[in-house]
Amino acid sequence: MQTDFTAEQRLNPKIARADEILRSCVHCGFCNATCPTYQLTGDELDGPRGRIYLMREFLTDAGNTVRTTQHLDRCLTCRACETTCPSGVAYGELAEIAREQIGPDRQGYAGIIRRILAWVVPRPDRLRFVLRLAKPFSWLLPAPITKNIPATVGSSFVVSTHKHRKILLLNGCVQQVNTPLTNRHLTTLLEKRGVGVVTEAQEVCCGALDLHLGDNRAALKFARENIDRLYPHLDSVEAIISTASGCGVTVKDYERLFVDDPLYARRAAAVAAKTLDVSEFLGQSGFEFSASKVDKKVAWHAPCTLQHGQQLGAHVEKILADAGYVLTFVADPHLCCGSAGTYSILQARMADQLRDQKLNALLAGDPELVATANVGCQSHLAAGSGVPVHHWIELLE
Ligand code: SF4
Ligand code: SF4
Repeated sequence: MQTDFTAEQRLNPKIARADEILRSCVHCGFCNATCPTYQLTGDELDGPRGRIYLMREFLTDAGNTVRTTQHLDRCLTCRACETTCPSGVAYGELAEIAREQIGPDRQGYAGIIRRILAWVVPRPDRLRFVLRLAKPFSWLLPAPITKNIPATVGSSFVVSTHKHRKILLLNGCVQQVNTPLTNRHLTTLLEKRGVGVVTEAQEVCCGALDLHLGDNRAALKFARENIDRLYPHLDSVEAIISTASGCGVTVKDYERLFVDDPLYARRAAAVAAKTLDVSEFLGQSGFEFSASKVDKKVAWHAPCTLQHGQQLGAHVEKILADAGYVLTFVADPHLCCGSAGTYSILQARMADQLRDQKLNALLAGDPELVATANVGCQSHLAAGSGVPVHHWIELLE
């Protein structure tokens, strides 16, 4: 794709990188075929190719900010388009650059909700307090918020053992509050197999939420703090393990995020290199598992942050099948469920449409359980599913 950045604009490293990404797009449109939002609206500007054109115009200072913002806000950042693109266009990174230029602020109700989310969600203590407070008054709150209030609110935990083998398990901000069973169950599984589990009590948000909201400065502040906390553990643990694929994909991206930071580049790269999704770790471990419910039919939903962001997904299917589960056929497995970080709250109508489509696909094979790998997908799907939705780790014995 041709670009018209001036030499002065290209002096900005972000613009230079955007230019490089834009030039790799041959505007073939293959990506539109797998874009969930394009499939919903049929609008070229709600597909990756149209958004790439909008971002090019916007970044060269010739675009319409309101229109670009509207269509970028409707993008899930699911990165299905990256998986499909034959030219290797780094769409997610381009969207991140454009969102940073747009900034996190919005007018009216959306702006207020975005500020509340950014203040509450990345801080588990605040999130726990707000959820406990909101629960009795949930009937007063708008539906996009009430559907995200979990039945029980969990607390963080720290497990420390002195075994020969040891991993560091990321707590995750939302996961430790909404679905604490996931990490508890994994800890039991690993301890039984001689692997000690530690957590970092001072762990902070990985930065994913603020990146989604276009507040890169806040995201990098969180990420720096996390690097300071996690780096000292690297020599004493085999790996940093993430059970929430939305956090894992961000921590694995720390090397790219800090590549130009002389103070943090080396440590960020080391933390990223040591981070694995739990499915990678278990797949490499050679451990054998059995099903917690023998011969049960399970529908597997691979979160976008796992299948597109980390290019994983088949690992989980193999582990569940080896354990004895029967995996049902799920049509269009590449499509997002609509959770997508804060998307289910900020773009509730489209998120619900995507969830209904996803649940139709997941439940078509008549499963007894739905399994997934990210707290956001789990909560979002569970709010509309008549079938229990679990993190896949909970299904292993
Ligand atoms: S598939 Fe890739 S190269 Fe083709 S339009 Fe989409 S982003 Fe551009
Ligand atoms: S990230 Fe997802 S929603 Fe956004 S343009 Fe790509 S495929 Fe479409």
